[in-house]
Amino acid sequence: MKSTNCVHAGKIFDASTKGMVSPVYPSTSYDYIDTDILAYPRYFNTPNQKAVVEKLCALEHGEDGLVTSSGMAAVTTVLFALLQKGDHAVFERNLYGGTYHAVINEMERYGISYSFSDASESSIRSAIKENTRLIYFETPSNPLISITDIRMVARVAKENDLVTVIDNTFASPINQNPLDIGIDVVIHSGTKYLGGHSDIICGAIISNNALVEKFWNTAIHFGGSINAHTCYLLERSLKTLAIRVEKQNQNAMELAGHLEGHSLVKCVNYPGLTSHSGHHIAINQMNGFGGMLSFEVDLLAEETDRFLKRLNIIHSAVSLGGVESIISSPARTSHAKMTSRQRVEVGISDQLLRLSVGIEDADDLKKDIDQAMGAAVLSA
Ligand code: PLP
Repeated sequence: MKSTNCVHAGKIFDASTKGMVSPVYPSTSYDYIDTDILAYPRYFNTPNQKAVVEKLCALEHGEDGLVTSSGMAAVTTVLFALLQKGDHAVFERNLYGGTYHAVINEMERYGISYSFSDASESSIRSAIKENTRLIYFETPSNPLISITDIRMVARVAKENDLVTVIDNTFASPINQNPLDIGIDVVIHSGTKYLGGHSDIICGAIISNNALVEKFWNTAIHFGGSINAHTCYLLERSLKTLAIRVEKQNQNAMELAGHLEGHSLVKCVNYPGLTSHSGHHIAINQMNGFGGMLSFEVDLLAEETDRFLKRLNIIHSAVSLGGVESIISSPARTSHAKMTSRQRVEVGISDQLLRLSVGIEDADDLKKDIDQAMGAAVLSA
C-alpha cells in the first residue's frame, strides 16, 4: 500500500484535461463569493498544499497535517503552538543542531522552561515536572544513529498526560510510522528524504485533527507557508519515496557491513547491524533501518581530510536524504558550535563521519571508500 500511496494518494484529477499529474495552481488570490473557504497560501488551504498533505497523511497514517516552508518552520510551529508561558518541555538530548539551538535561544524568552534527558526511561521520567506539557525526540538520531524506544516514550507520556512529538526525518514514513505506535505528532524536514533530490526546502507536520487545528492557528501567524511550485515538486518526489528509501536501506546495510570489516574503521553506527545497541528496538519499530550511518575512522586528522578529498562518487556536503551519497564530518559541520570537549562528552570525535547513503550501485560506493582510504594512508 505504501508504494501505491506514494504514487496516487492526494492526486488532483483535472477533469478538463484528464492529465495524469496534479495541475499546479499558483494563484495567491481566490474568489470568496459563494464559498465557505477563504483560500490563501498562508492559510495552508490552496489546492497543491492540500494535495501533498493528503499524500503525507496517507504515508504517515495521520488524520491531517500542514506542509511548511522548512523543517524548522514545522518544529517551531509545533513547539510554540503547544507550549505557553509557565510550561515546561522535555527534549531528548540527541537533537538536530538547529532544533537544539532554537530551544536554548528562544524558549526562555517566552517564559517556557525545558530539560534535556537521555533516551532511557528513567532519565525521561526524572526530567518530567508538574508543569511539563510535552516530550520531544528524534530516532534514529543525528549523528550517532542511536535508537530510542518509541513505544516506551509514548507509554511514559500517556501516564503523565503529555503530548509526544517525534522528528521522523531520518527514518522517513517508509521506515517508521510513529503515529501507529502511540506518538501524537510527527515532524519532517521535507528537505531530506521527502524531497529526496537536494533541490527543495520544506517541512511537514502530521497528527490528528484536533492538534493540527491548533498548529494551524499558530502557523498562520508565524507564516511559514509553502508555494504551489514547491508543493508540486514535493508531490512529484514523494511518488518515488518508497523505491528510493528501499534502495537506500539496502545500500546502507551493505556499506555498514563493509565498513565494519574495514581495518581503518574503528566502529560503525547503523541500527541494521547486530552490533548496534538499539538493533532489537529498531527491529520492533522500523520497517527498514534507513539510509543514514556514521563511522569512526582510525586515521589522523590530516588523513581523514585526505580521505574525504579523495572520494570521487561520495561528496563532502551538508544535509542528507538525497539520491546522491554525501558525507560530512559532524565536528566540522552540524556540531561545530560545540567545544571539542563537549563533543567528546556526547560521543562525537573528530574522526566520526556521517554518511547519507544514496541510490547509486553499492559496489561503486564500496570501491570509492576503499580507494579513498588507501590514498589517504599511502600519501602520508
Ligand atoms: N530535523 C532534522 C533531523 C534535520 O536534519 C533538519 C535539517 O538538517 C531539520 C529538522 C531542519 O530542517 P530544515 O533545514 O528543512 O529547516
